Amino acid sequence: MHQSTADTLPADTPSAVPPAVPPAAEAPPAVRPAAAPVALSPSRAGDFMTCPLLYRLRVIDKLPEPPSAAATKGSVVHAVLERLFDAPAGQRTPEAARALLRPEWARLLEKRPELAGLFPDDADGAELGRWLAEAEQLLDGWFRLEDPNRLEPAERELYVETELESGLRLRGYVDRVDVAPTGEVRIVDYKTGKAPSRDYEGKAMFQMKFYALVLWRLRGVVPRRLQLVYLGGGGAVVSYDPDLADLRAVERKLLALWEAIQGALATGEWPATRNRLCDWCAHKALCPAFGGTPPPYPLNVPTVTVPTASGAGDR
Ligand code: SF4
Repeated sequence: MHQSTADTLPADTPSAVPPAVPPAAEAPPAVRPAAAPVALSPSRAGDFMTCPLLYRLRVIDKLPEPPSAAATKGSVVHAVLERLFDAPAGQRTPEAARALLRPEWARLLEKRPELAGLFPDDADGAELGRWLAEAEQLLDGWFRLEDPNRLEPAERELYVETELESGLRLRGYVDRVDVAPTGEVRIVDYKTGKAPSRDYEGKAMFQMKFYALVLWRLRGVVPRRLQLVYLGGGGAVVSYDPDLADLRAVERKLLALWEAIQGALATGEWPATRNRLCDWCAHKALCPAFGGTPPPYPLNVPTVTVPTASGAGDR
């Protein structure tokens, strides 16, 4: 799992069970200056499609969001799944994966000391222990879905970035790329939530098509298979075999999305759109859909001269 903003690096897509976070009113003040976005990631594209105000607050205002135990657990599990492949085939066991959990948590904590605040009243370490046990369950679940001893990933945590002819830059991280001896490419993404219902499946697969588009643009090969591996809720694997028409359709959709974002940048209008993730939104306290007031729009909106009846506006 990757946490970031669309104009920097992509975050992981929301899982079916979003992380609970405290209200934004408790968050520390923003420290990064507001700026217009320069690229799209799957997560931030998803934000804009879900709620333009959420996109604005994350990407333009860059308001900080408090860390969540669920998202952090996802980050640690992803790190373990990446590192496990350092061991040779045959040694990639559930025990080996569990043994990596605490070191990976320590490594993350070193990078982001604020995560220590996730377990504030945990003098005896019981809370952390429960949290790690849940992460172990997710890892154990993975072994029921895939056998890492039969896999030799070509890439892990691969950063991809490309620029379309229109100038739109797309970027993101791919959890795993497998390449068959025949050259066929499979893109794999781990989700620590449970598999979504059919209604939301398309949204999760959109992220994978986004990666497929970027890889196709970079390497000239249409990935043979897109595979979502859900570790939560008993585990599930969802696959899709894309074709060129799929990727061109995603490209058209992203261009339309980018145009809509440019339109919102020009007008400063970022409507709040209620959705099923509002209860987990870190910015709910600032959201007009829930009686809040967003901060003043931080970018300049060009003023438009409205022509008068006498034509004075034409001069
Ligand atoms: S609470 Fe819901 S409507 Fe408001 S900004 Fe967050 S996602 Fe958008």
